[in-house]
Amino acid sequence: MVKAHNLGFPRIGANRELKIAQEAYWKDLTSLDDLKTVGADLRRQNWQKQSGLDLVPVGDFAFYDQMLDMSFTLGNLPDRVRNYAGDPLDNYFRVARGRSAPSASRSEGPEGVAAGEMTKWFDTNYHYIVPEFVAETEFQLDPSRLIEQIREAKAQGVSVKPVIVGPVTYLALGKAKDDSDKLALLPRLLTVYQELLREISATGVEWVQIDEAILVTELDSAWKKAFEFAYQSLHSSKAKLLLTTYFGQLLENLPLTASLPVAGVHLDAINARDEVEALVATLPSDRIVSLGVINGRNVWKTNLEELLNWLEPVAKRLGDRLWIAPSCSLLHVPVDVDSEKKLDAEIKSWLAFAKQKLEELRVVKVALDSGRDAVRAELDANRDAITSRRQSARVNNPNVKAAVAKIDSRHGERKSPFSQRTKTQAEILKLPKFPTTTIGSFPQTAEIRRARSQFKAGKLDESAYFSAMKNEIARCVREQEQLGLDVFVHGEAERNDMVEHFGEQLDGYAFTENGWVQSYGSRCVKPPLLFGDISRPKPMTVEWIKYAQSLTSKPMKGMLTGPVTILNWSFVRDDQPRSISCKQIALAIREEVLDLEKSGVQVIQIDEAALREGLPLRRSQWQEYLTWAIDSFRICANGVADETQIHTHMCYSEFNDIIEAIAHMDADVITIETSRSDMELLEVFETFSYPNQIGPGVYDIHSPNIPSENHIIALMQKAADRIPAERLWVNPDCGLKTRQWAEVIPALTNMVAAAKKLRVTSDSA
Ligand code: GLN
Ligand code: ZN
Repeated sequence: MVKAHNLGFPRIGANRELKIAQEAYWKDLTSLDDLKTVGADLRRQNWQKQSGLDLVPVGDFAFYDQMLDMSFTLGNLPDRVRNYAGDPLDNYFRVARGRSAPSASRSEGPEGVAAGEMTKWFDTNYHYIVPEFVAETEFQLDPSRLIEQIREAKAQGVSVKPVIVGPVTYLALGKAKDDSDKLALLPRLLTVYQELLREISATGVEWVQIDEAILVTELDSAWKKAFEFAYQSLHSSKAKLLLTTYFGQLLENLPLTASLPVAGVHLDAINARDEVEALVATLPSDRIVSLGVINGRNVWKTNLEELLNWLEPVAKRLGDRLWIAPSCSLLHVPVDVDSEKKLDAEIKSWLAFAKQKLEELRVVKVALDSGRDAVRAELDANRDAITSRRQSARVNNPNVKAAVAKIDSRHGERKSPFSQRTKTQAEILKLPKFPTTTIGSFPQTAEIRRARSQFKAGKLDESAYFSAMKNEIARCVREQEQLGLDVFVHGEAERNDMVEHFGEQLDGYAFTENGWVQSYGSRCVKPPLLFGDISRPKPMTVEWIKYAQSLTSKPMKGMLTGPVTILNWSFVRDDQPRSISCKQIALAIREEVLDLEKSGVQVIQIDEAALREGLPLRRSQWQEYLTWAIDSFRICANGVADETQIHTHMCYSEFNDIIEAIAHMDADVITIETSRSDMELLEVFETFSYPNQIGPGVYDIHSPNIPSENHIIALMQKAADRIPAERLWVNPDCGLKTRQWAEVIPALTNMVAAAKKLRVTSDSA
């Protein structure tokens, strides 16, 4: 018999119950007990949804983040939150958010404590709280959360498989605050893991899932040794360890993984199907082989027939040694397709969210155990859905495929090199030195949001909604005139989200009502579904920008989201390479760029906020990604005449490792985020001479603080040490939509004043 199990289930609830409960508690509207009750309810519901499995994950539920849970279990709390007298869950929120709920935090003052740093979990859009280490870090086991949940699950008749983050991944993903060697902590850490495993075994549980996803990344020899050392030292534990790897192939780490003394290994057989043979051949014959055969990272139905054709012979060979599961935790997909009431029926029939993925897993298990006939009806329905998707005219647009096939190098080339077009543009735009601009959005006020929700609910008709948005645009233009900025934006009032706004207008995209995925804490995102060949039925932004331009004689930036960002923030079809989908988007946005140009827009900004986050986990694969990603940007941006100035924007400036690719985009101007790092992140420009113009952000838009004129001048002077002043722009770090007008006006007033002073000083220098 094959065992079916799961690595983790979405904790947010089918209707984001966790988010609602967290936020109510943080606002002091409910009690900590209320929140804990919601947590217990969600766990019970999730376990029920997984009751068909042979083993069900326990401990994957977290009130904020699973890594932070692990830090508390291991007793690795930052010094600043030790000795907290209140409830441990409040202390946990203090690390997560810098504060607990208001009633609990009265004693800690209005500022709370510094929150833990947050960063992306591997290549997903989930963010975890980074464990903090110093050379003196001591660990101290607190198994209470996990043990209580194991008991709770057992009492409900769940066949429990506790889930913990493995010691090597835990260390690797943490940060040594004092730059000490994290690996020196491993022996101490392992003592606590041994105790933890002992406590778990004492509950009568047999298997423990221990997640070591860094095995799919490049490891140097010290970290490889750490794996050997760690698992030797956990070997004597009574618990049977299922070592789980996911999000990619093991490659050179395969022999190491197979050699570790654990009871079983889980391999992501979506990304690493071609490694199954080698793993089976290398693993000792008493080990369990768990294969992640259902994709935990996308929303499409599995082609079950194709899967079984491959899996049946594997199952024959492995017999009882085979377990099957989703490729990774289902945390990264929405909960339940059935809660989509408005989604087009045809598209809906192609989708599988967490609940449906587990049903697929059940069908596969039955087919392997009892033959396909035992699930004939399910397999037939699956085949119909797969065929319908493959053949649908909405997925396949021969014109789009032909257009992509015709792309050649000329699509990505500007007519003249930067040195020449910069002169042409200067003559037309007549900008002062240190020109000022903003990144696109102005405050999304309560009135804007109200108008949009009324429009969506059908309470406001289109013309009333459009005129409300035009009023907002006119307001932004007036404010920018007042402020004396040089290059204007329309303010993006009409956009709910920088990807959704375009997705809604492109063919090949669909939207869910409830397809939420946790991004961090209580924040969830609802990625659009890129299901088909992408095309642009009609212009998307031209009327708005033309209207904004008609109100001023200053240049108005056309504002677009770039193809790589649109791709990276969507659930993307799995039936063609991502690079092809990206090029299709690039061609659609290119048409928009050319239409904007035709309508007289002289400056066009194409945001690539998510370019960096698409980098593969392994460096050895970066170049391949960068090649098609940058090509896509060039295809979309570079069809314009020399006279048109192309800007791009990125929400970071950690470019050290990709600066050449960024330069190769050949945008005339790039704006980046630098204010918080005091321009330190511009260091890379000392060694690499970035050829084009650049606007290093001088206003941290994540903070309500108003930067002073002198502060901005000082930042720009630092920038001028590294980049010639005649190529510098003055602008905020990012869009202003989350700020209030009352903050934006004084901040931009100071910014414009600073630019004026800089012009005078640099002229007299
Ligand atoms: N143009 C967008 C804005 O200003 C850019 C946002 C972003 O980079 N995340 O809101
Ligand atoms: Zn940004």
